[in-house]
Amino acid sequence: MRVGLFGGSFNPIHFGHLRSAEEQREALGLDLVYFVPASSPPHKTEGGLAPAEHRLQMVRLATKGNRHFMVSDVEIKRAGQSYTIDTVRFFLATLRQPSALFLLMGADQFNELDTWKNADELVAACNLAVHTRLSEGDSASAPRFSLAALKRFGYIKCDDHYVHPSEHTLSFVDTTILPISATEIRRKLQRGQSINYLLPGDVVDYIQRHQLY
Ligand code: ATP
Repeated sequence: MRVGLFGGSFNPIHFGHLRSAEEQREALGLDLVYFVPASSPPHKTEGGLAPAEHRLQMVRLATKGNRHFMVSDVEIKRAGQSYTIDTVRFFLATLRQPSALFLLMGADQFNELDTWKNADELVAACNLAVHTRLSEGDSASAPRFSLAALKRFGYIKCDDHYVHPSEHTLSFVDTTILPISATEIRRKLQRGQSINYLLPGDVVDYIQRHQLY
């Protein structure tokens, strides 16, 4: 069983998140992708963050039609600051073996992985899949991930991926980054503008019914 963990504030979840998760699932041959909404993301300020139970419910609504998509409330139940290492430990302890765990993250997150809690334990405990922007011609000269981060954790290149001394892998997955952001969705709501077609209709209804943002 190949299992992906996709964490985020999902404030709210939108088609950019969903499409990215779907493409990563296909590229990595994952059987399941767990969406893991953070209770209180350590790298973000609390301003404008909808209550965790609402964000969780919106993720449930958005993913309900996809049998490969699951939702975990482990970080929300734990409350307080959400640390990825605690979530990975939880999944390793509870998944039925043999399972390969893939932590899905953006290139920006990978580049600052060094600042994450127990980063060395994290990279030794699971596979990493870093989603990068699908090549766009003009981005050819810009490095999309930091070579320093690769070196820092001792990754060695092997075919089309990298291998950690623990034998866990690091893969870069090109995904379509739809020009949709949760920040922009919240901004539109504050201005009284439409958010239709940026996120699933059930989530739009939920936001309106509960007067979020
Ligand atoms: P905010 O605008 O509130 O900061 P965000 O979408 O950047 O929201 P998260 O909800 O924490 O923040 O994002 C979770 C993950 O989804 C991150 O890894 C981020 O790289 C990825 N992501 C966010 N927006 C998109 C998008 N439009 N397309 C693909 N991936 C995205």
